[in-house]
Amino acid sequence: MLNFPTKRLRRLRYNPIVRDMVRETYLHKNDLIYPLFAVPGSGIKNEVRSMPNVYQMSIDVLVEECKATAALGIPAVLLFGIPEHKDEVGSDAYNEHGIVQEAVRAIKKEVKDLLVITDVCMCEYTSHGHCGIVKDGEILNDETIELLSKEAISHVQAGADIVAPSDMMDGRVAAIRKGLDNAGFTNTPIMSYAVKYSSGYYGPFRDAAESAPTFGDRRSHQMDIANADEAMREAESDIDEGADIIMVKPAGPYMDIIRRVKEKFNMPTAAYQVSGEYSMIKAAGQLGWIDEERVMMESLIGIKRAGADMILTYFAKDAAKLL
Ligand SMILES: [Zn+2]
Repeated sequence: MLNFPTKRLRRLRYNPIVRDMVRETYLHKNDLIYPLFAVPGSGIKNEVRSMPNVYQMSIDVLVEECKATAALGIPAVLLFGIPEHKDEVGSDAYNEHGIVQEAVRAIKKEVKDLLVITDVCMCEYTSHGHCGIVKDGEILNDETIELLSKEAISHVQAGADIVAPSDMMDGRVAAIRKGLDNAGFTNTPIMSYAVKYSSGYYGPFRDAAESAPTFGDRRSHQMDIANADEAMREAESDIDEGADIIMVKPAGPYMDIIRRVKEKFNMPTAAYQVSGEYSMIKAAGQLGWIDEERVMMESLIGIKRAGADMILTYFAKDAAKLL
């Protein structure tokens, strides 16, 4: 093989036009999904303390935010709800007039050309903040997936285009698929949080979604951060159960997993750049320690380069403005 001085890799880096011609990875607006938080009331826009420029919004404000999101060319939002009422069994999660159901109805009615994906989990709705039914300190699997199926059906009845189960219970994709099919929604895709790690990067999200557990943690259902082969088994089982899109969460610290999932399964693959990833870039940017815009784009292109087809990110609007 030829080598220096015949081979000079810098030749393609001198001219900016040549650099553009040989660039391998591009981020597109179409890659972005914007997560949003709905709260009861009207005229409410509360900034999340640990997430600058991220807000809890009442439905009227949320609808305007969705119009602005669509106008920027972002194709989809992911909706989380913070209910008025929490109880042991998370009843508001599958209430026809729950916060997410009402938010979906309003957005689908008022905003054209915006896909609404809903987060399907129990932790925002349970008084103990866990992702399912708790008995004697244990999160019950099979009882929980029945409720998740009800929750998903109620979201789709309200108009949700895609449902995204995030709980990491076993068998929940199959339960939701069966529930949706029986309810006549055979064409509604499931975006499964197939590989979700028990991560410290979720900290700021729990301020946003008010979903911190009152006791214990999520290690009995979310994955151990050190495991990669297990991630392949998680993704495989969700695909077998009928997931249409699989997700890896968080994104930045798990790019090896994104790459392995993409290469092994050739499925539409999403990656969630989570609250902690966002807040660290924001905070360092505010301190003047990094160039926020540049690091934001670098973080997103890195996730795309790793193999993600879609990126859920709180930077969606900021990135879309630059694209
Ligand atoms: Zn949860």
